Amino acid sequence: MAKKGQAVEKIALQCTECKRKNYTTFKNRKNLQGKMEKNKYCKWERKHTLHKETKIK
Ligand SMILES: [Zn+2]
Repeated sequence: MAKKGQAVEKIALQCTECKRKNYTTFKNRKNLQGKMEKNKYCKWERKHTLHKETKIK
């Protein structure tokens, strides 16, 4: 499990087309710099779209 102080951050992946947050994932800040972008399946649009990293409250 992720302990406090580790360089792992929980993020959401937001669809760039419908703006829904479809996925949550963990990002290692040591390995990844800048925003994460992934092509993911959007169940609302029933197609693959670009999803971008966004913060979870
Ligand atoms: Zn979408």
